[in-house]
Amino acid sequence: MKLRKDPFFAKMDRLGLSLAYSEVRMKSGYSDTDPVDASIQTLFSRNVPMNCPIVSAAMDTITEAPMAITLAAKFGGLGIIHKNLTPAEQVSQVRKVKLYLNCRIDKPICVNQGETIGEILARRRDEGFTFHSFPVIDSNGKVVGLLTSNDFDLCDSNGTKAVRAMTPLRDLITGPANLSAEKAHSVLKRGRKKVLPLLSRDGGIAGMYVLSDLHRLMSGKTSECNVDEDGHLRVGAAIDVGPAEVERAEMLLSAGCDVIVVDKAHGDMKPVRETLIALKNLRQKFPGRDIVVGNISEAESAKRLVSWGADGIKIGQGPGSICTTRDVAGIGNPQVTAVYECAKAIRGSGIPVCADGGITKSGDIPIAIGLGASSVMLGFVLAGTDETPGEIKETKKGRVKVYRGMGSLEAMKENAASRARYRQQNVAKEKLVAEGVVSVVPYKGAVAKELVKMVGGLRAGLGYVGAASIAELQKKADFRYLTPAGQAESHPHDVTVTDETQ
Ligand code: IMP
Repeated sequence: MKLRKDPFFAKMDRLGLSLAYSEVRMKSGYSDTDPVDASIQTLFSRNVPMNCPIVSAAMDTITEAPMAITLAAKFGGLGIIHKNLTPAEQVSQVRKVKLYLNCRIDKPICVNQGETIGEILARRRDEGFTFHSFPVIDSNGKVVGLLTSNDFDLCDSNGTKAVRAMTPLRDLITGPANLSAEKAHSVLKRGRKKVLPLLSRDGGIAGMYVLSDLHRLMSGKTSECNVDEDGHLRVGAAIDVGPAEVERAEMLLSAGCDVIVVDKAHGDMKPVRETLIALKNLRQKFPGRDIVVGNISEAESAKRLVSWGADGIKIGQGPGSICTTRDVAGIGNPQVTAVYECAKAIRGSGIPVCADGGITKSGDIPIAIGLGASSVMLGFVLAGTDETPGEIKETKKGRVKVYRGMGSLEAMKENAASRARYRQQNVAKEKLVAEGVVSVVPYKGAVAKELVKMVGGLRAGLGYVGAASIAELQKKADFRYLTPAGQAESHPHDVTVTDETQ
């Protein structure tokens, strides 16, 4: 399939030019949709959708549970938990994200049919339960009814047994163990009930949905959440290569992690391929979960990763704000050309591309998508916010937070996973060669403020190009090269800015 942008990049290729974000802009065009109505739904990988194409970087100064929760719960994006953590610590971060929206209760507290209302209320008080809905089970563990706040209110005596006070099974709506949150919501609404016990095949309790939680999830206010079929927030986690990392992946997937990112500074190498082969069994054990691989920056590498079975690929070798890879190793493809060429090489394969690194302004996001990416990964833009790990430091120049490269000397000295990302796991500490720097960035407050700007800029880009969706932007975008004068003209000039909004 030939796209509008292909002739522009063919010309650049003939001239031997590789371009960075600041050197290109998209052509504007006829628009018949309001940018506010444009769809920004997309895919991070084959089976992992997002309601907004923003992914937070798997870095130890960017993504742990707080960043992943805000991105998925408030913006419909996705956080990738970094791997400078022990497997147990990383699993605990994943769990925090998965349990944040607990609209499906996997193990509801049950009461026995012989217990009295007084006993149940005492237990409720003693154990600090804040809810009133308890499935009632018989001595074989089979569900025989449900106690709800109505049943408690209507019961005259604390001595009444649960079996007498409950709503019996025949008057309840129940669902099968694997019922999705969406279906549960419509079943409850149709049946005018507030609680939906899920039953296993043998009549035991397999889970429970509560309408108020589902409402929160399905209402307009939270419809932008990025949630899985059970209503839990989606989250990803990074791993390295090798047998121990395959074990780490299994622990992460068992904890509910939606996507594993095999995260190497150079993804096009034999150990990555071997790790993908070793992960095959896990794919069967956890269907619908994905393996994304990165990073690469050349078309041939993209084709290879797809042929190895990657469900998504991550592009970026050297564009990162804290990155020195290109200076140190003398390799790299500036990010605009890298994203275009890799996306073009696997066009039509159905494997989404994530543009990782180098994004400093909201306008870079529609550009990355116009080049063919389905999502962008951000480090710099999110750095310095409340949701990043690390303390706020007071300095003479104001409040700052540390933002460091995973390949900085500091990160590599502290952490084996950082050394492994840069293939220096067997190098003595005094011989480590850094591929990143440690920096401080101004403290920015809540990350939501930055994300609002990013999403707003993306929508504006869709509007100017005249695209009603991410797919349409990928298809319609066409590019211009900016000379240095064009670049200067693209920023505020000849004025003293008093309100720095970008
Ligand atoms: P940024 O958004 O421009 O700051 O780029 C973030 C990206 O830089 C991350 O998602 C990684 O792919 C990459 N990265 C992280 N640490 C390093 C490093 O130490 N050297 C090179 N690249 C890095």
